Amino acid sequence: MISPILMSHTNKTTGLVDRFGRTHNYLRISLTERCNLRCFYCMPAEGIPIREKSDFMTVEETLSIAKTFVDLGINKIRLTGGEPLIKKGFNELIEGLGKLPVELAMTTNAVALDKYIDVLKQAKLNKLNISLDSLNEERMNAISRRSFFTKIMENIDLAINEGFEVKINVVLIRDVNNDEIIDFIEWGKDKPISMRFIEFMPFDGNQWDERKKVGLEEILATVYKHYGTAQVLRIDDEKNDTSKNYKIAGSKGSFGIISSVSNPFCDSCNRIRLTADGKLKNCLFSASESDLLSQLRKGQDIKAVIVDNILNKKKERGGYSDFNDNMLHTMKNRTMTAIGG
Ligand code: SAM
Repeated sequence: MISPILMSHTNKTTGLVDRFGRTHNYLRISLTERCNLRCFYCMPAEGIPIREKSDFMTVEETLSIAKTFVDLGINKIRLTGGEPLIKKGFNELIEGLGKLPVELAMTTNAVALDKYIDVLKQAKLNKLNISLDSLNEERMNAISRRSFFTKIMENIDLAINEGFEVKINVVLIRDVNNDEIIDFIEWGKDKPISMRFIEFMPFDGNQWDERKKVGLEEILATVYKHYGTAQVLRIDDEKNDTSKNYKIAGSKGSFGIISSVSNPFCDSCNRIRLTADGKLKNCLFSASESDLLSQLRKGQDIKAVIVDNILNKKKERGGYSDFNDNMLHTMKNRTMTAIGG
Protein backbone atom coordinates (compact mmCIF):
# COMPACT_ATOMS: atom_id res chain seq x y z
CA MET A 1 0.00 0.00 0.00
CA ILE A 2 1.27 3.49 -0.82
CA SER A 3 1.57 5.67 2.28
CA PRO A 4 -0.63 8.82 2.45
CA ILE A 5 2.53 10.98 2.43
CA LEU A 6 3.74 9.30 -0.73
CA MET A 7 0.34 9.69 -2.39
CA SER A 8 0.18 13.38 -1.62
CA HIS A 9 3.62 13.97 -3.04
CA THR A 10 3.76 11.87 -6.14
CA ASN A 11 1.23 13.14 -8.59
CA LYS A 12 2.08 15.83 -11.09
CA THR A 13 -0.35 18.36 -9.72
CA THR A 14 1.17 18.17 -6.23
CA GLY A 15 4.76 17.74 -7.40
CA LEU A 16 7.73 17.05 -5.16
CA VAL A 17 6.91 19.23 -2.17
CA ASP A 18 9.12 19.40 0.93
CA ARG A 19 8.20 20.14 4.56
CA PHE A 20 8.67 23.86 3.92
CA GLY A 21 6.19 23.95 1.03
CA ARG A 22 8.82 24.22 -1.69
CA THR A 23 7.88 22.45 -4.93
CA HIS A 24 10.80 20.88 -6.79
CA ASN A 25 10.39 20.90 -10.55
CA TYR A 26 14.02 21.40 -11.61
CA LEU A 27 16.51 18.53 -11.79
CA ARG A 28 20.20 18.92 -12.56
CA ILE A 29 21.76 15.72 -13.85
CA SER A 30 25.51 15.29 -13.73
CA LEU A 31 26.55 13.11 -16.67
CA THR A 32 30.12 12.49 -15.56
CA GLU A 33 32.54 13.47 -12.80
CA ARG A 34 35.30 13.85 -15.37
CA CYS A 35 36.24 17.08 -17.07
CA ASN A 36 38.54 18.26 -19.83
CA LEU A 37 39.50 21.30 -17.69
CA ARG A 38 41.02 21.38 -14.18
CA CYS A 39 39.68 24.67 -12.76
CA PHE A 40 41.42 25.00 -9.42
CA TYR A 41 38.29 26.11 -7.53
CA CYS A 42 36.32 23.09 -8.77
CA MET A 43 38.70 20.16 -9.09
CA PRO A 44 41.62 19.43 -6.69
CA ALA A 45 45.11 19.68 -8.24
CA GLU A 46 45.58 15.93 -7.92
CA GLY A 47 42.32 15.35 -9.85
CA ILE A 48 39.57 13.11 -8.53
CA PRO A 49 40.04 9.38 -7.89
CA ILE A 50 39.34 7.16 -10.89
CA ARG A 51 36.37 4.93 -10.13
CA GLU A 52 34.92 1.78 -11.70
CA LYS A 53 32.78 2.40 -14.79
CA SER A 54 30.03 0.37 -13.15
CA ASP A 55 29.77 2.98 -10.38
CA PHE A 56 28.16 5.34 -12.85
CA MET A 57 24.78 5.47 -14.55
CA THR A 58 24.62 4.16 -18.10
CA VAL A 59 22.70 6.14 -20.70
CA GLU A 60 19.69 3.81 -20.27
CA GLU A 61 19.77 4.14 -16.47
CA THR A 62 20.04 7.92 -16.69
CA LEU A 63 17.01 8.03 -19.00
CA SER A 64 15.03 5.67 -16.79
CA ILE A 65 15.71 7.73 -13.65
CA ALA A 66 14.99 10.97 -15.52
CA LYS A 67 11.60 9.58 -16.64
CA THR A 68 10.72 8.74 -13.04
CA PHE A 69 11.52 12.30 -12.00
CA VAL A 70 9.32 13.62 -14.81
CA ASP A 71 6.48 11.39 -13.52
CA LEU A 72 6.97 13.08 -10.16
CA GLY A 73 6.58 16.59 -11.59
CA ILE A 74 10.04 17.58 -12.86
CA ASN A 75 9.63 19.80 -15.93
CA LYS A 76 13.10 21.28 -16.29
CA ILE A 77 16.35 19.30 -16.62
CA ARG A 78 19.83 20.80 -16.76
CA LEU A 79 22.77 18.65 -17.82
CA THR A 80 26.03 19.30 -16.06
CA GLY A 81 29.09 17.52 -14.69
CA GLY A 82 32.14 17.31 -14.77
CA GLU A 83 31.87 18.25 -18.38
CA PRO A 84 28.61 16.88 -19.84
CA LEU A 85 29.88 16.95 -23.41
CA ILE A 86 32.58 14.36 -22.72
CA LYS A 87 30.03 11.76 -21.61
CA LYS A 88 30.21 8.66 -23.84
CA GLY A 89 26.83 8.17 -25.50
CA PHE A 90 25.91 11.85 -25.16
CA ASN A 91 24.04 11.83 -28.50
CA GLU A 92 21.84 8.92 -27.49
CA LEU A 93 21.19 10.44 -24.10
CA ILE A 94 20.19 13.86 -25.38
CA GLU A 95 18.00 12.25 -28.01
CA GLY A 96 16.18 10.31 -25.27
CA LEU A 97 15.84 13.34 -23.01
CA GLY A 98 14.56 15.37 -25.96
CA LYS A 99 11.49 13.10 -26.06
CA LEU A 100 10.52 13.92 -22.47
CA PRO A 101 8.07 16.76 -21.75
CA VAL A 102 10.73 18.97 -20.14
CA GLU A 103 12.67 22.14 -20.82
CA LEU A 104 16.31 21.18 -21.39
CA ALA A 105 19.38 23.24 -20.50
CA MET A 106 23.08 22.56 -20.06
CA THR A 107 26.07 23.98 -18.21
CA THR A 108 29.28 23.45 -20.16
CA ASN A 109 32.80 24.78 -20.56
CA ALA A 110 32.10 24.87 -24.33
CA VAL A 111 35.42 23.22 -25.28
CA ALA A 112 33.60 20.57 -27.38
CA LEU A 113 30.43 22.53 -28.12
CA ASP A 114 30.95 22.87 -31.89
CA LYS A 115 30.68 19.08 -32.28
CA TYR A 116 27.25 18.95 -30.64
CA ILE A 117 25.39 22.01 -31.95
CA ASP A 118 23.12 20.03 -34.28
CA VAL A 119 22.26 17.29 -31.83
CA LEU A 120 21.42 19.89 -29.16
CA LYS A 121 19.14 21.71 -31.58
CA GLN A 122 17.38 18.50 -32.54
CA ALA A 123 16.70 17.78 -28.86
CA LYS A 124 15.44 21.38 -28.45
CA LEU A 125 18.08 22.15 -25.86
CA ASN A 126 18.61 25.85 -26.45
CA LYS A 127 19.71 27.20 -23.07
CA LEU A 128 23.43 27.12 -22.40
CA ASN A 129 25.35 28.34 -19.38
CA ILE A 130 28.98 28.57 -20.42
CA SER A 131 31.81 28.90 -17.90
CA LEU A 132 34.45 31.52 -18.60
CA ASP A 133 36.50 32.91 -15.72
CA SER A 134 38.75 35.34 -17.56
CA LEU A 135 38.90 37.27 -20.81
CA ASN A 136 42.66 37.06 -20.62
CA GLU A 137 44.02 33.95 -22.31
CA GLU A 138 46.97 33.42 -20.02
CA ARG A 139 44.84 33.85 -16.91
CA MET A 140 42.02 31.64 -18.18
CA ASN A 141 44.52 28.91 -18.98
CA ALA A 142 46.11 29.27 -15.54
CA ILE A 143 42.72 29.01 -13.78
CA SER A 144 41.64 26.01 -15.86
CA ARG A 145 45.12 24.43 -15.98
CA ARG A 146 44.50 23.75 -19.68
CA SER A 147 44.88 25.73 -22.93
CA PHE A 148 41.47 25.93 -24.59
CA PHE A 149 40.83 29.69 -24.40
CA THR A 150 40.59 30.27 -28.17
CA LYS A 151 38.29 27.29 -28.69
CA ILE A 152 36.01 28.39 -25.85
CA MET A 153 35.74 31.94 -27.22
CA GLU A 154 34.99 30.64 -30.75
CA ASN A 155 32.33 28.32 -29.39
CA ILE A 156 30.68 31.08 -27.37
CA ASP A 157 30.33 33.09 -30.60
CA LEU A 158 29.05 30.01 -32.38
CA ALA A 159 26.38 29.39 -29.73
CA ILE A 160 25.20 33.00 -29.94
CA ASN A 161 25.14 32.96 -33.75
CA GLU A 162 23.23 29.68 -33.76
CA GLY A 163 20.53 31.30 -31.63
CA PHE A 164 21.15 29.59 -28.28
CA GLU A 165 20.16 31.48 -25.13
CA VAL A 166 23.59 32.00 -23.58
CA LYS A 167 24.59 32.87 -20.02
CA ILE A 168 28.24 33.18 -19.08
CA ASN A 169 29.22 31.86 -15.64
CA VAL A 170 32.14 33.69 -14.02
CA VAL A 171 33.27 32.50 -10.59
CA LEU A 172 34.70 35.67 -9.05
CA ILE A 173 37.67 35.11 -6.75
CA ARG A 174 39.58 37.86 -5.01
CA ASP A 175 43.08 38.43 -6.36
CA VAL A 176 42.36 36.00 -9.20
CA ASN A 177 39.83 37.69 -11.50
CA ASN A 178 37.90 40.31 -9.47
CA ASP A 179 39.63 43.04 -11.50
CA GLU A 180 37.68 41.88 -14.60
CA ILE A 181 34.13 42.80 -13.54
CA ILE A 182 33.94 45.83 -15.85
CA ASP A 183 35.81 44.03 -18.66
CA PHE A 184 33.22 41.25 -18.60
CA ILE A 185 30.29 43.68 -18.60
CA GLU A 186 31.82 45.65 -21.49
CA TRP A 187 32.52 42.46 -23.43
CA GLY A 188 28.91 41.28 -22.98
CA LYS A 189 27.24 44.68 -23.48
CA ASP A 190 26.58 44.32 -27.20
CA LYS A 191 25.84 40.62 -27.16
CA PRO A 192 22.45 39.03 -26.40
CA ILE A 193 23.86 37.27 -23.35
CA SER A 194 23.76 37.47 -19.58
CA MET A 195 26.97 37.55 -17.54
CA ARG A 196 26.58 35.88 -14.17
CA PHE A 197 29.05 36.64 -11.42
CA ILE A 198 29.06 33.68 -9.04
CA GLU A 199 30.34 33.84 -5.49
CA PHE A 200 33.17 31.40 -4.79
CA MET A 201 31.73 28.45 -2.81
CA PRO A 202 33.47 26.04 -0.43
CA PHE A 203 33.99 22.41 -1.50
CA ASP A 204 36.44 19.67 -0.64
CA GLY A 205 40.02 20.73 -1.40
CA ASN A 206 39.21 23.91 -3.36
CA GLN A 207 41.27 26.49 -1.41
CA TRP A 208 38.16 28.40 -0.31
CA ASP A 209 38.33 31.01 2.38
CA GLU A 210 35.92 33.75 3.20
CA ARG A 211 38.28 36.55 2.16
CA LYS A 212 38.34 35.27 -1.43
CA LYS A 213 34.59 35.77 -1.83
CA VAL A 214 33.46 38.81 -3.80
CA GLY A 215 29.94 39.73 -2.73
CA LEU A 216 26.99 41.56 -4.26
CA GLU A 217 27.70 44.93 -2.60
CA GLU A 218 31.29 44.95 -3.74
CA ILE A 219 30.39 44.04 -7.32
CA LEU A 220 27.67 46.69 -7.46
CA ALA A 221 29.98 49.32 -5.94
CA THR A 222 32.51 48.62 -8.70
CA VAL A 223 29.82 48.83 -11.37
CA TYR A 224 28.23 52.03 -9.96
CA LYS A 225 31.63 53.68 -9.72
CA HIS A 226 32.41 52.92 -13.35
CA TYR A 227 29.05 53.64 -15.02
CA GLY A 228 27.33 55.97 -12.52
CA THR A 229 24.28 54.80 -10.54
CA ALA A 230 21.71 56.10 -13.04
CA GLN A 231 23.11 53.94 -15.84
CA VAL A 232 22.78 50.69 -13.88
CA LEU A 233 19.24 49.37 -14.17
CA ARG A 234 17.77 46.64 -11.97
CA ILE A 235 15.83 44.23 -14.19
CA ASP A 236 13.22 41.61 -13.33
CA ASP A 237 14.51 38.29 -12.04
CA GLU A 238 12.95 35.16 -13.48
CA LYS A 239 10.84 33.02 -11.13
CA ASN A 240 13.13 30.91 -8.88
CA ASP A 241 16.10 32.81 -10.32
CA THR A 242 19.26 32.45 -8.28
CA SER A 243 20.65 35.77 -9.52
CA LYS A 244 19.85 39.43 -8.96
CA ASN A 245 19.85 40.94 -12.43
CA TYR A 246 20.93 44.27 -13.89
CA LYS A 247 21.79 45.92 -17.16
CA ILE A 248 23.68 48.96 -18.28
CA ALA A 249 21.33 51.47 -19.95
CA GLY A 250 21.25 51.00 -23.72
CA SER A 251 23.05 47.66 -23.72
CA LYS A 252 21.90 44.39 -25.30
CA GLY A 253 23.37 42.15 -22.66
CA SER A 254 22.66 42.01 -18.93
CA PHE A 255 24.47 40.77 -15.86
CA GLY A 256 23.45 38.91 -12.74
CA ILE A 257 24.99 38.32 -9.35
CA ILE A 258 24.66 34.95 -7.64
CA SER A 259 25.47 35.09 -3.93
CA SER A 260 25.07 31.45 -2.95
CA VAL A 261 27.19 31.86 0.18
CA SER A 262 26.30 35.34 1.51
CA ASN A 263 22.62 35.42 0.54
CA PRO A 264 21.47 31.91 -0.29
CA PHE A 265 18.21 31.66 -2.20
CA CYS A 266 16.95 28.69 -0.18
CA ASP A 267 13.40 30.03 0.37
CA SER A 268 12.55 29.71 -3.29
CA CYS A 269 14.68 26.64 -4.00
CA ASN A 270 13.06 24.37 -6.59
CA ARG A 271 16.12 22.31 -7.53
CA ILE A 272 17.52 18.90 -6.82
CA ARG A 273 20.55 17.08 -8.18
CA LEU A 274 21.28 13.63 -9.54
CA THR A 275 24.99 12.80 -9.41
CA ALA A 276 26.73 10.82 -12.16
CA ASP A 277 26.83 7.81 -9.81
CA GLY A 278 23.08 7.93 -9.40
CA LYS A 279 22.72 9.60 -5.99
CA LEU A 280 20.01 12.14 -5.29
CA LYS A 281 21.28 15.27 -3.53
CA ASN A 282 18.55 17.68 -2.49
CA CYS A 283 20.94 20.59 -1.92
CA LEU A 284 24.39 21.45 -3.20
CA PHE A 285 25.62 21.57 0.38
CA SER A 286 23.79 18.58 1.84
CA ALA A 287 26.01 15.81 3.18
CA SER A 288 23.31 13.16 2.84
CA GLU A 289 22.42 11.47 -0.44
CA SER A 290 19.96 8.79 -1.57
CA ASP A 291 21.27 5.97 -3.73
CA LEU A 292 18.78 5.74 -6.60
CA LEU A 293 21.06 3.75 -8.90
CA SER A 294 21.46 0.81 -6.50
CA GLN A 295 17.71 0.69 -5.97
CA LEU A 296 17.08 0.76 -9.70
CA ARG A 297 19.60 -2.05 -10.29
CA LYS A 298 17.84 -4.15 -7.66
CA GLY A 299 14.63 -3.67 -9.63
CA GLN A 300 13.06 -1.62 -6.86
CA ASP A 301 10.78 1.37 -7.25
CA ILE A 302 12.76 4.56 -6.70
CA LYS A 303 9.76 6.87 -6.32
CA ALA A 304 9.42 6.37 -2.57
CA VAL A 305 13.15 7.02 -2.08
CA ILE A 306 12.91 10.27 -4.03
CA VAL A 307 9.87 11.48 -2.11
CA ASP A 308 11.48 10.61 1.22
CA ASN A 309 14.67 12.44 0.28
CA ILE A 310 12.74 15.61 -0.59
CA LEU A 311 10.77 15.43 2.65
CA ASN A 312 14.07 15.42 4.51
CA LYS A 313 15.45 18.47 2.73
CA LYS A 314 16.84 21.01 5.21
CA LYS A 315 15.51 24.56 5.39
CA GLU A 316 18.72 26.16 4.16
CA ARG A 317 22.30 25.50 3.02
CA GLY A 318 21.98 21.75 3.49
CA GLY A 319 21.57 22.32 7.25
CA TYR A 320 24.56 24.64 7.73
CA SER A 321 23.51 27.86 9.41
CA ASP A 322 26.44 29.80 8.01
CA PHE A 323 29.65 29.32 6.12
CA ASN A 324 32.95 30.22 7.72
CA ASP A 325 36.51 29.00 7.77
CA ASN A 326 35.95 26.75 10.85
CA MET A 327 33.01 25.05 9.28
CA LEU A 328 35.20 23.84 6.45
CA HIS A 329 37.04 21.53 8.80
CA THR A 330 33.85 19.69 9.69
CA MET A 331 31.91 19.96 6.44
CA LYS A 332 31.66 16.73 4.48
CA ASN A 333 30.88 17.17 0.80
CA ARG A 334 32.11 16.08 -2.59
CA THR A 335 34.11 18.29 -4.90
CA MET A 336 31.95 20.42 -7.19
CA THR A 337 32.93 18.30 -10.16
CA ALA A 338 31.72 15.16 -8.36
CA ILE A 339 28.42 16.76 -7.37
CA GLY A 340 27.58 18.39 -10.67
CA GLY A 341 27.60 22.18 -10.66
N1 SAM B 1 32.04 21.59 -16.89
C1 SAM B 1 30.91 22.45 -16.92
C2 SAM B 1 31.31 23.89 -16.80
O1 SAM B 1 32.51 24.16 -16.70
O2 SAM B 1 30.44 24.75 -16.85
C3 SAM B 1 29.82 22.10 -15.91
C4 SAM B 1 30.24 21.74 -14.54
S1 SAM B 1 30.84 23.08 -13.55
C5 SAM B 1 31.09 22.23 -12.02
C6 SAM B 1 29.39 24.01 -13.29
C7 SAM B 1 29.53 25.38 -12.72
O3 SAM B 1 29.98 25.30 -11.39
C8 SAM B 1 30.54 26.22 -13.46
O4 SAM B 1 29.96 27.42 -13.89
C9 SAM B 1 31.60 26.47 -12.43
O5 SAM B 1 32.23 27.66 -12.65
C10 SAM B 1 30.81 26.40 -11.14
N2 SAM B 1 31.64 26.14 -9.96
C11 SAM B 1 32.49 25.11 -9.77
N3 SAM B 1 33.11 25.21 -8.58
C12 SAM B 1 32.63 26.33 -7.99
C13 SAM B 1 32.88 26.97 -6.74
N4 SAM B 1 33.74 26.49 -5.87
N5 SAM B 1 32.21 28.10 -6.46
C14 SAM B 1 31.31 28.61 -7.34
N6 SAM B 1 31.03 28.04 -8.53
C15 SAM B 1 31.68 26.93 -8.86
